[in-house]
Amino acid sequence: MIELSLTDLLKITGGEATASAASDTVVTSVTTDSREVTAGCLFVAKPGEFSDGHAFIDKALASGAVLALAERQTYDDARAVHPSIIVDDAVEAMGKIAAHIVEYLKAKNDAKVIGITGSAGKTTTKDLLAGILSRVAPTVSPIGSYNGEVGVPLTVFSATEDTKFFVIEMGATGVGHLTYLTDMVHPHVGVVLCVGTAHAGEFGGVENIEKAKGELVEALDADGIAILNAEDPRVARMESRARAQVRFFGTSEQKPERAGVWAADVVVNGSGQPQLTLQFPDGYSQRITSGLLGRHHVGNILAAANAAYALDISPQIIAESLEGQRANSRWRMERSERADGVSIINDAYNANPESMRAALVTLAELGLGEDGAPGRRTWAVLGEMLELGDKSIHEHDLLGRMAVRMNIKKLVVVGRGAKPAYNSAVLEGSWGDEAFYVESVDEARDLLQKELQPGDIALFKSSNGAGLRFLGDDIAAFV
Ligand code: ATP
Ligand code: MG
Repeated sequence: MIELSLTDLLKITGGEATASAASDTVVTSVTTDSREVTAGCLFVAKPGEFSDGHAFIDKALASGAVLALAERQTYDDARAVHPSIIVDDAVEAMGKIAAHIVEYLKAKNDAKVIGITGSAGKTTTKDLLAGILSRVAPTVSPIGSYNGEVGVPLTVFSATEDTKFFVIEMGATGVGHLTYLTDMVHPHVGVVLCVGTAHAGEFGGVENIEKAKGELVEALDADGIAILNAEDPRVARMESRARAQVRFFGTSEQKPERAGVWAADVVVNGSGQPQLTLQFPDGYSQRITSGLLGRHHVGNILAAANAAYALDISPQIIAESLEGQRANSRWRMERSERADGVSIINDAYNANPESMRAALVTLAELGLGEDGAPGRRTWAVLGEMLELGDKSIHEHDLLGRMAVRMNIKKLVVVGRGAKPAYNSAVLEGSWGDEAFYVESVDEARDLLQKELQPGDIALFKSSNGAGLRFLGDDIAAFV
């Protein structure tokens, strides 16, 4: 990270130092997790949902932190005040420090910030884009799926003196939230992938989801570039909210006037990987095979290509980087092959109706035999989609019907929250004894260890909290 002195930090945050904070203190890293503290660290005492960071200041300082950023004074066992900067809101102060670092690197290196938002595909797109940009210049991007008011500053803190690109994943939790993040990092390029219906309850309707995601587009200056999905009407019409130049991405034969990098001749190969021809506005075109799994990733691939192209990266470098590129983040359509010929697709990091559908389509396509050959037996191991509020039963009901329509061969529904999917599947389909409902991950493990046969393909998908990703890992490791 960029080193900051106590004086810098006081100026940036507007906080007050405790008398115990040494005036020559220099901070060389920042964390909110006392287990990750290293020497020279600033420990941010974040009031959390379940635990309060102020309770860990003592431990953080003992592990090498040199200063705390806190909302009140805290004391060690001998009643001595911990060296701290006291602010009204620790998370907001973190944001101010991040804003300062971004400003500094923009002035020093002409660093560019790329913001990525959308209901699905943010992490995948940021991984693809960071893969391209890091071939050209030092690039920072989030660890995992850091994308909120804490995750974005933590991403920024990983910058060094030579950082040129910031790839920033931005998750919106409500109207006004992205504005908070864009005020912090002021993106030059803004990417909007899709507007889904997940969290519609929390947002107060899908219109508000659209409004919230469009804040990224509104935040771009006139010399900025908005990258918009032409095939999602709610995203495409964000054009009207942009002062920035707009470039659309898509796959249809009719290109809109402001098309950026476009895809032609999209197919999915026998391994489930999308193949497409990237058509660049300068006339260059290149056919690539992605290492990602599933047709739904084509939009994410195009979004990354467009963002890189907007930053003047050459089409050759973009195509070369995207060729064969797999997801770097775990549990996202992560495919592994067991020695006995069972294929596992572990996509159990996140689930909502849109991504469930995308995953089932991919599984169904993988199960098809090529040229009339007998197909492979497909297993959908599905757990609960969380955060659906009062739509939960309805959406799980639809999920079960979808499994029937896609002709999935074996269905395992795990956990009570997901049970409506089992009920509707059994009602709608003719499964015989091929649909299972189990209450727990342990029961699912026993069942699958017994039932999976060489040649089978098993998809594991649920929201993170439902725990199916570890089940998928166990089954992948079981021989
Ligand atoms: P989160 O909000 O959890 O951070 P994210 O937006 O970062 O999610 P990813 O982690 O990239 O999204 O992908 C999450 C899931 O959505 C994966 O199952 C992925 O296959 C699926 N997915 C990605 N893009 C799309 C898309 N365009 N349509 C439907 N599903 C998608
Ligand atoms: Mg993510």
